[in-house]
Amino acid sequence: MGEATETPLPTYVIEGARSSRSRCKTCRRKIDKGSLRIGMLIEGPYGTGYLWHHLRCAARRRFEQVQEAYELEAWNEAKDPPQKVPALDELRKYVEELAERRERQREIPHAEVDPSGRAKCKHCGEPLEKGALRIVLGREVEFGGQVRTGPIHVHPRCVAAELRTDHCATPVDGFADALRANSSDLPADKLDEVLAAIGDLR
Ligand SMILES: [Zn+2]
Ligand SMILES: [Zn+2]
Repeated sequence: MGEATETPLPTYVIEGARSSRSRCKTCRRKIDKGSLRIGMLIEGPYGTGYLWHHLRCAARRRFEQVQEAYELEAWNEAKDPPQKVPALDELRKYVEELAERRERQREIPHAEVDPSGRAKCKHCGEPLEKGALRIVLGREVEFGGQVRTGPIHVHPRCVAAELRTDHCATPVDGFADALRANSSDLPADKLDEVLAAIGDLR
């Protein structure tokens, strides 16, 4: 048995990254020097060490552990304690807002900015333009003998024709109101524009 001469390592450390060499275990991206990171102690078969996460990434995926680290004031464990750490409430708000946004994005129909320019319109097969607004509609698909509704992306100009197809799961009635309600993260004038491009649905 080893002699207990070493002081045990703290379970958590919150600090500004001392170099740009660590990688976030949540998002897999590099942690830039100086950005806030949280180290979580792990004891594995090859020894003891810290796994690092961006503080916000950790809050997103393992809020309870971040809370614990805050209770332990884990920034005091840093070699060079950070000058400013966001309040726990601020992190909680960030996590809740993300969850809300994700929730909204699941609601169909909604308008969103095409992030990549690599997707094609499921109605006409032409590419969707990067940065332009696309519309998310529901389409019924048969899967393993069950019919379920999946999201599809279409051009605003293709909405009217898609809504008339048999496999479309998004109702025409109240379409514009539903689109506005589910796309409230977009500016109103953008929504007006996109509804004009969609045109009359009757
Ligand atoms: Zn991250
Ligand atoms: Zn199209």
